[in-house]
Amino acid sequence: AKRTGRNMVQGYEPFMKKALAERADIEKRLRLALTAREISPYYQPLIDLQTGEIRAFEALARWRDPDDGFISPDVFIAMAEDIGLIMELTNQLLTQACSDAASWPKNIQLAVNLSPKMMVDRLLGIRIIRILAQTGLAPFRLEIEITESALIADIDLAKTVINDLRTAGIKVVLDDFGTGYSSLSQLSNLYFDKIKIDKSFVATFQSNDKQMNIVRTVIALGKGLGIAITAEGIENVSQMDALRQLGCRFGQGFLIGKAIPSEEVPQLLEHQCPH
Ligand code: C2E
Ligand code: CA
Ligand code: CA
Ligand code: CA
Repeated sequence: AKRTGRNMVQGYEPFMKKALAERADIEKRLRLALTAREISPYYQPLIDLQTGEIRAFEALARWRDPDDGFISPDVFIAMAEDIGLIMELTNQLLTQACSDAASWPKNIQLAVNLSPKMMVDRLLGIRIIRILAQTGLAPFRLEIEITESALIADIDLAKTVINDLRTAGIKVVLDDFGTGYSSLSQLSNLYFDKIKIDKSFVATFQSNDKQMNIVRTVIALGKGLGIAITAEGIENVSQMDALRQLGCRFGQGFLIGKAIPSEEVPQLLEHQCPH
């Protein structure tokens, strides 16, 4: 086995070296960016599909590198997870987002994404509650979005964390619904306040009968369980109209608005309600 390994290493060495060097470089820059607080939340609006009013903003991490421009969160969040920086990154982003949201009108919610890797921290609930106290944001205004993969690693621990959050009045949202492993039993056992239908469904449900039925069923299920449904990734009017007609409560997507920096939030809110 060793000999084969050696041959393979020889063949791939130049590529490996380059990839490793690039990775080491971006890791170094990620550490520096964290220290310099160069990663900040941008805010994407969520509307009530029936009234068109903005009801919440989702905080999405943005890292602007002086040389490379914006680096995708899909890249640097995964890296922060790998090199043990996710806790620090989340702390920074959550603190920033909560303090931004504390100055918004009281009827506007803040949604924040939590890495599934953080769901194994027994003290997570307490940490988040402490940040709320520090920033003065009321717990009921915070929505924590987790994906189905957060539920796989340690379901009992995930339940404990979700319970802590909900006991404190924080809302818990199941993100990217339909892409992972969630089953109906998980939905009925875990008590989510909201469910987000993944954007891959929104992109194609109108031309796919099965997906259309799934979307319709999830919306009906939400009604039955008292769980509000959000559709993400709405890019055109036809998708928005169809979802509205199906009775979907909330919507989010480029059609409604992309993520904007904190400074632009008051403007956007003012623009939608001139009085
Ligand atoms: P997500 O939580 O599912 O966030 C939605 C993603 O879809 C965002 O990408 C958003 O910009 C994008 N999006 C919104 N509307 C549309 C649309 O109409 N069409 C399309 N095609 N895309 C749309 P983004 O900002 O690149 O974030 C990617 C993922 O990175 C997020 O997926 C989330 O899982 C993760 N992420 C972002 N910020 C954070 C963070 O602060 N903490 C953690 N743990 N994860 C984060
Ligand atoms: Ca999300
Ligand atoms: Ca999502
Ligand atoms: Ca996603």
